Amino acid sequence: MTTRPWHATVLTLYPEMFPGPLGLSLSGEALARGIWALEARQIREHGLGRHRAVDDTPAGGGAGMVLRCDVLGAAIDSVAADTRPRLLMSPRGRPLTQARVRALSEGAGAVIVCGRFEGVDERVIEGRGLEEVSIGDYVLSGGEIAALVLLDACVRLLPGVMGKVASGVEESFESGRLEYPHYTRPREWESRTIPDILLGGNHAAIAEWRSQNALRITRERRPDLLAGDRVATAFGAGGRFPEDTRDQNDA
Ligand code: SAH
Repeated sequence: MTTRPWHATVLTLYPEMFPGPLGLSLSGEALARGIWALEARQIREHGLGRHRAVDDTPAGGGAGMVLRCDVLGAAIDSVAADTRPRLLMSPRGRPLTQARVRALSEGAGAVIVCGRFEGVDERVIEGRGLEEVSIGDYVLSGGEIAALVLLDACVRLLPGVMGKVASGVEESFESGRLEYPHYTRPREWESRTIPDILLGGNHAAIAEWRSQNALRITRERRPDLLAGDRVATAFGAGGRFPEDTRDQNDA
């Protein structure tokens, strides 16, 4: 049986930004080996008139420009209909989580729209059923770097990308906790030593130490992860996505 590669189609005004850093290291090797495929398409090919205009001034006035719904709609429609989710990188979106990343990586791929300027006309979000995804509570100048972040997180989970299968499962967030501290040689550095228990060879004791330290670090830094209500904590009680249970279902 031949499996189709995990397939990402990115709609952008800057296709030259892809694969960018994803052409290197693990993701680059996986790309070369055909584990995943990436196609960056120029939105401007669907632009209007001699200048291939893609944006216009905001209705109601105000600063900046807005990506036109007719142009973006045509760009989206040029991607053959399939089962892949259509995402719009957006600071208004649902915050990206490891659970969503894992679910995406288990699917056929994604169609990713990158915004620019002030954003995109609301009607294309509704009309094409775009799922808005945010990579954090700060504003980037465009969706491309956000798309690279999302793709990097997905691609490293694809079968055959990471050397050791287990290394995808024990990490931060996968267990609802942050990861325990790591150490390697030398045994002593600037009079700091490695905890004795990690050098003792008692695997049960090591596992217990790691579990306790993961819990301690999570309690100190991200108590919201232990409370199991990351979204509620991030947006306050009755936050923006109260109806959403996807993360719990995916976990
Ligand atoms: N005026 C908008 C910000 C536009 S930033 C607002 O206040 O919400 C321009 C583009 O960058 C957005 O359309 C989006 O595609 C991308 N972008 C900016 N911040 C992002 C974030 N945190 N996560 C994902 N995409 C982001």
